[in-house]
Amino acid sequence: MTVILKNANFIDWQNLSFSNTNLRVEEGTSGSLTFFDNFREIPVSLKDEIIDCKGKLVTKSFAIAHHHAYSALARGMPAPEKTPANFLEILKYIWWNLDKALHKDMIEASALATAMASAKAGSTFVIDHHASPNYIKGSLDVIAHAFEKVGVSHLLCYEITDRNGMKKAQEGLEETEYYLSKNQGLVGLHASFTVGDDSLEKAAELMRNKASGIHIHVAEDKIDQEQCMQNHGKRVVERLNDFGVLDSSKTILAHCLHVNENERKLIRNSKAFVVQNTESNLNNNVGYFNGNAMGNRIMLGTDGMHSDMLRTSKAAYFVGQENDNIDFTSAYGRFRKTHNYLNINSYTGDGENNLVVLDYDSPTEINENNFLGHFIFGLTSNHVQHVISDGKLIVKDKIIQTVNEEELLKFTKEQANRLWKKL
Ligand SMILES: [Zn+2]
Repeated sequence: MTVILKNANFIDWQNLSFSNTNLRVEEGTSGSLTFFDNFREIPVSLKDEIIDCKGKLVTKSFAIAHHHAYSALARGMPAPEKTPANFLEILKYIWWNLDKALHKDMIEASALATAMASAKAGSTFVIDHHASPNYIKGSLDVIAHAFEKVGVSHLLCYEITDRNGMKKAQEGLEETEYYLSKNQGLVGLHASFTVGDDSLEKAAELMRNKASGIHIHVAEDKIDQEQCMQNHGKRVVERLNDFGVLDSSKTILAHCLHVNENERKLIRNSKAFVVQNTESNLNNNVGYFNGNAMGNRIMLGTDGMHSDMLRTSKAAYFVGQENDNIDFTSAYGRFRKTHNYLNINSYTGDGENNLVVLDYDSPTEINENNFLGHFIFGLTSNHVQHVISDGKLIVKDKIIQTVNEEELLKFTKEQANRLWKKL
């Protein structure tokens, strides 16, 4: 089936030009996107889905650069046994408690919930960072299948760490090696402060062997730097650089809040990408992102808080007014940077046949000169009406087309209740 978007007001995501056109969207990871001035010129077959987009905006769909599907069932869960007083306690009493309780069905439910939420908010590509220390082997396949069922493309990794002992660290390495032998993905590491030199060396070696990149949390809290200085006599980015982690354009450094001038320079002069996760930083009270002198390879992520990239962009812009050098253009640039990351690294699933149709009822005119003002102050995920992923219509009139959402939400609630009982 080919999707045809009739009477579209198309916005080129790169140069923000607007054009009234008709689009023929071919299915597949290398499916084409063809523009026709005249609708009648489009070759149409009976099986094709024709959507009239009169009055709607059509543009490239979105991508999430740092997510944690495994946290999807946390929403509304019981309070931890102790109220966390700092970042390490947030990890210990909340996330490291939750991830240890995850088993296959819960992981599947988390991934389905994340994929559905991402799709409905306009994202067709998710870069995920997964942890389930008591269900490591095969966990990435479970997530991949769930994402594919919904129709969301992905770049997954398993979080290798020493925090649960060296046997689990080894299992994480093995799961990564197994998964990368047949899928696109990354070598995941938790953070410098839970990864010793042995595991870091093995992960970096695996990265090189698989021509992949490392996906790691960097200086999210001061504790990462303090422990790095104490145990290794250097700062986090310096340590990662010494192991060759920054040499890959596939490497993703999430957060980078507490980095000094030398670390900014190392990042700027490297090939690695950075992901800003503003709302998560606010929630954990760990500090503020500042993109100054870090180069222009900055992407945006949700860090497992939610799956709404338009919301994340606004947070980055508003919070950044005091602490960052962000403006309309750079907020949009960071929001879209993930497409460049995926493209330069030849990952599949983010071609031009990934689109979102926005039913945007603005009280004022929107055009290429003022689009960014609408992006910051007007557009929300409520405007997402249809979503096309790899040429396939996965959301139509705000309803997921690929799976039965009602049934799956029943399943996710069951799994959430199971999980909460184990906490
Ligand atoms: Zn994270």
